[in-house]
Amino acid sequence: RAMARIIGGVGVSHTPTIGFAYDTNRQNDPAWAPIFEAFEPVRAWFSDRRPDAIVYVFNDHMTSFFFDNYPAFALGIDHRYEVADEGGGPRALPAVPGHARLAQHIGASLVSDEFDMAFFQDKPLDHGFFSPMSVLLERRDGQWPTAIVPLQVGVLQFPIPSAGRCYRLGQALRRAIESYPEDITVAVVSTGGLSHQVHGERAGFNNAEWDRQFLQTLARDPARLAEMTHAEYATLGGMEGAEIIMWL
Ligand code: FE
Repeated sequence: RAMARIIGGVGVSHTPTIGFAYDTNRQNDPAWAPIFEAFEPVRAWFSDRRPDAIVYVFNDHMTSFFFDNYPAFALGIDHRYEVADEGGGPRALPAVPGHARLAQHIGASLVSDEFDMAFFQDKPLDHGFFSPMSVLLERRDGQWPTAIVPLQVGVLQFPIPSAGRCYRLGQALRRAIESYPEDITVAVVSTGGLSHQVHGERAGFNNAEWDRQFLQTLARDPARLAEMTHAEYATLGGMEGAEIIMWL
């Protein structure tokens, strides 16, 4: 029986500066080289495995989703997604094709699994999506090599979903993808984090020790991470670093 198969999961930071460094060819700049080197194996993995679709979990930054209507989980059901203009003009990247059929299936599956999803169309995606996308995937003849299903998580304005809720959504996402009745390969990418804080007294805060611990625990005992509160995430990894719950 033909079924979709998950071939891998990737967690990645989405700072806008990664995209700007890429656009201005800073790959060999001493400040940037280690970051681009770290991306290299994952980029090679994508070039080699070429998934038919990527389910891409990220958050918007008040670019396409505003607080006048701010869903916890919004799934894109569209055939293409443009690059958002975040104030300095959109980056010179092509629109990315959407896998609308897979998105419809995932949406139906998640809702029957009792997640009350929001759905969106006609919304450009910001650096939460395109910053890592531009360094993870090699474009061929100027075009993206895969189609995507974007899942936007409302992590900017409290109340936001708990880590446990994100973890259970991840498990439901697996059931959704693996029940898609077509013989395709799917990768899952989550963006955001690791530790950082960009406002208040702790602006500039990082905690590399917690970052390492988070990565180890994500691999060995994710259920433990699902039990942590937002306050614990913010204390250990900074207020904005709490967006790391999207990796669950
Ligand atoms: Fe962010």
